[in-house]
Amino acid sequence: MRVLLIGTGAREHAIAAALAADPAVTALLCAPGNPGMAGLGELAPVDPLDPGAVAALAVEWSADLVVVGPEAPLVAGVADAVRAKGIACFGPSQAAAQLEGSKAFAKDVMRAAGVPTARSFVCTTPDELAAALDEFGPPYVVKDDGLAAGKGVVVTGDLAAALAHGAACGRVVVEEYLAGPEVSLFVVTDGTAAVPLQPAQDFKRIGDDDEGPNTGGMGAYSPLPWAPPDLVEQVMASVVQPTLAEMRKRDAPFSGVLYVGLALTTEGPKVIEFNCRFGDPETEAVLARLDTPLAGLLHAAAVGRLSEDPPLAWRSGAAVCVVMASAGYPESARKDDVITGADGVPGVLHAGTARREDGALVTAGGRVLACTALGDSLPEAREAAYAIVRGIGFDGAQYRTDIALKAAEGKISVP
Ligand code: AMP
Repeated sequence: MRVLLIGTGAREHAIAAALAADPAVTALLCAPGNPGMAGLGELAPVDPLDPGAVAALAVEWSADLVVVGPEAPLVAGVADAVRAKGIACFGPSQAAAQLEGSKAFAKDVMRAAGVPTARSFVCTTPDELAAALDEFGPPYVVKDDGLAAGKGVVVTGDLAAALAHGAACGRVVVEEYLAGPEVSLFVVTDGTAAVPLQPAQDFKRIGDDDEGPNTGGMGAYSPLPWAPPDLVEQVMASVVQPTLAEMRKRDAPFSGVLYVGLALTTEGPKVIEFNCRFGDPETEAVLARLDTPLAGLLHAAAVGRLSEDPPLAWRSGAAVCVVMASAGYPESARKDDVITGADGVPGVLHAGTARREDGALVTAGGRVLACTALGDSLPEAREAAYAIVRGIGFDGAQYRTDIALKAAEGKISVP
């Protein structure tokens, strides 16, 4: 199988590593890719947001399967363009990607499907915004309706900040605050059959103890030792199957990965958000433990022949991913800081890196590296991931020191 992978981040590096390890994969092309992926396959330049260009590359390279990593190309219609050329594509159509592309659309689907989620209002005027914030009270949750690279959501006790974010975005979803530990569940689906991966938890804020602004994600771990044993089964029944059925009913069947972001509240699991692709950095931790060959799984989902049986195979133990970010992140991202100690180290997944002409590896984005390690237990995986981090240096490097800490210490409980 010749696989073309679209994307540039550590999530795509993790997917590339899993695809390259699948004996069914005879060639891998990463476009645009990054320096970390260079050792796993060929790299080719492409504009991931240009559906015609991606489809043309897939044809020219004789791809058997195209895997789209990030959300923006899917929302732009890349999967439709690839499929129009008769090539299998893992990722939802433009219409189905609206589950992530519009928070208001996702809320409407959840309402129609009876999926448990936060009560919400769509607001387009200052008066509607003020009334909705007043209705729910603090902490206020205000979400930009459209794609915002993980930065469109403000959760704050400060009414003025909530009003300002709403006014800046224009059309927003205001919703009630959901209290409880968060879970990310990825479900591979062909639109009807659905196979859950093991749940993970990510860390959105830049600082330890969840201080500071939201980021794309500063770390993750999987599995979740504190999760109720029937959690996945319950979410498949109460969230995933009804949502897939509603999407089929709307003639926008959803295939690819349905990423279900949940809060485990006193009233049970409720959906915080849907995404239409693998999460970053949870994927780094989840795929580190997946034993089932990935290309076969994604191809089956892409061509509508996903089997729910036999279940996926997993390595025992735990995986932890710690993200190292550049100076200034998340407000800005300083470039061209020389990175030492990363080349050739197992578990170092590249995100915002570049290779300079003199061969030096340098920072080239906000999130720079995702250091991912396995361990027999969560504390051991944590120790192994931080050992990788400690071996790497670049000026201004930022990382959290508490990824998976509470879970490793048994301090997370489900209400
Ligand atoms: P999203 O972009 O929708 O994932 O939101 C980013 C983060 O904001 C989530 O991971 C949550 O931590 C937080 N968040 C979003 N919606 C809510 C909510 N209704 N209640 C509590 N936290 C939320």
